[in-house]
Amino acid sequence: MADSAPRASNFIRKIIDQDLASGKHASVHTRFPPEPNGYLHIGHAKSIVLNFGIAQDYQGKCNLRFDDTNPLKESVEYINSIKRDVQWLGFEWEGKPRFSSDYFDALHGFAIELIEKGLAYVDFSSQEDMRAMRGTLTEKGTNSPYRDTAVADNLQHFADMTAGKYQEGECSLRAKIDMASPFMCMRDPVIYRIRHVHHHQTGDTWCVYPMYDFTHCISDALEGITHSLCTLEFQDNRRLYDWVLDNISIECHPQQIEFSRLNLEYTVMSKRKLNDLVVEGHVEGWNDPRMPTIAGLRRRGYTPASMREFAHRIGVTKMDNQVEMGILEACVRDDLNENAPRAMAVLDPIKVVIENYPQDKVETLVAPNHPNKPEMGQREVPFTREVYIEREDFRESANKKFKRLVLGKEVRLRNAYVIKAERFDSDAEGNVTTVYCSYDPDTLGQDPADGRKVKGVIHWVSASEGVAAEIRLYDRLFQVPNPAAEAVFADALNPNSLQIVQGIVEPSLASAAPEAGYQFERTGYFCVDSEFAAEGKLVFNRTVGLRDSWAKMDQSDNDA
Ligand code: ATP
Ligand code: MG
Repeated sequence: MADSAPRASNFIRKIIDQDLASGKHASVHTRFPPEPNGYLHIGHAKSIVLNFGIAQDYQGKCNLRFDDTNPLKESVEYINSIKRDVQWLGFEWEGKPRFSSDYFDALHGFAIELIEKGLAYVDFSSQEDMRAMRGTLTEKGTNSPYRDTAVADNLQHFADMTAGKYQEGECSLRAKIDMASPFMCMRDPVIYRIRHVHHHQTGDTWCVYPMYDFTHCISDALEGITHSLCTLEFQDNRRLYDWVLDNISIECHPQQIEFSRLNLEYTVMSKRKLNDLVVEGHVEGWNDPRMPTIAGLRRRGYTPASMREFAHRIGVTKMDNQVEMGILEACVRDDLNENAPRAMAVLDPIKVVIENYPQDKVETLVAPNHPNKPEMGQREVPFTREVYIEREDFRESANKKFKRLVLGKEVRLRNAYVIKAERFDSDAEGNVTTVYCSYDPDTLGQDPADGRKVKGVIHWVSASEGVAAEIRLYDRLFQVPNPAAEAVFADALNPNSLQIVQGIVEPSLASAAPEAGYQFERTGYFCVDSEFAAEGKLVFNRTVGLRDSWAKMDQSDNDA
């Protein structure tokens, strides 16, 4: 699916247009700055498409920068997964991936500059005292007793902090701004703290680490970012972003612009919560096909184009809202409907024996890979005396709306012959086990010669030539639209989010590539599971149904 072009404008693009027109900037330079503390989710995809998409459309640049100031929660596994996901989505960053930790020396120097200017001080107050002095949204904070320490002493204390003379929590470096500010983030925020931990990039070089708000703006400026796009929760922090850059010796001053984050119904969208799902074993891992992670959606069968299209469809605004899952599903359905080859698979098989068909004959029929796209070619489908059809496609009796196989009536087997149900066997519980049919040999690729009308078409797979496959059917991971609002969000999990069935698929699918997407005719869109494929097992994931399963569905006629 080609990305629908030209891009719809949004308030951020309007700002950029103005900045280019006024000559404020000659070109655009954005960045995508994930913290490597988990796998990326679909919310990040929105930010990726925004940042990289703007760079593409304006012939600018977009950096990938790992915001790695919190080494305890971060790992190289996450760094690698993030790179993989960004590239898979179809984007390439400018130059090498960057790390905030690349700038630890510079950041430390700027912290010293603030101390020298009397704009930062080392505070030895306990955590509790600092919290108490911060005030509240309605009450001003109070000044720390360390706020007026002499510059020379602060320099010495910060040097001692850096040299490892203090324990974690014993002291921290704070910006000296305004304890009476209506913005909590401006009440002398901590800009450096002590952490005696190993860092995945800088090893044991540092035991003091800069805080996010201090690091982010300086990293942006050092990279020459023009527009620093972030989510709305940083709106207040923009004051701090600007304050830091206004008070250190640096030329570049990027403009921070906030947009609303993506929230998606029936799922959670925070690395911390997603991590809980993984650690508590509610899912099989970060790339479980039920997860809203990029890796999970990929394994589920989402395509890069469908995810970019989703980001475009939801747009970019400052309004908080919750997007319906149906919108995401429609994007992948549209893409796969257009581009996925067709195949036949039976998920809940019952056997059909075609009694007037030769016993050991295997007839090679040919089926188009796509009904409207001859350029997608065709494939061979073996036909035999015994085939499987879907249990729900046979009834002993039914009204005219049921355009499938009914006892004594005819139906067409897709890409093959017209058959007629003559009789059937059932087990002790009354479940149909085998349907005995006859076939009309003159109906391959043509209507019956005598003019009888056969309306229904059902899919099938040869019993002897078909291949057994495990098929995984997914439902929403949570039972409530906004699980994040639940006291214990894991309690809102849908116990039936994964149903595994043993199906049978046409033999051409035995060699299907991992992640390759198909439309199983009349059933839905499926892809080969990449993890199980690696183990040599044929497993398909249902990406999405043929229709919007989230809206109320008309069950009366499923014949697509
Ligand atoms: P999370 O809580 O999921 O970890 P985060 O904002 O802490 O989210 P970061 O790794 O810091 O995650 O995010 C990198 C970039 O992606 C940031 O610019 C952030 O604003 C953006 N981003 C994160 N979540 C969303 C979302 N749900 N919608 C849009 N953008 C998002
Ligand atoms: Mg974060």
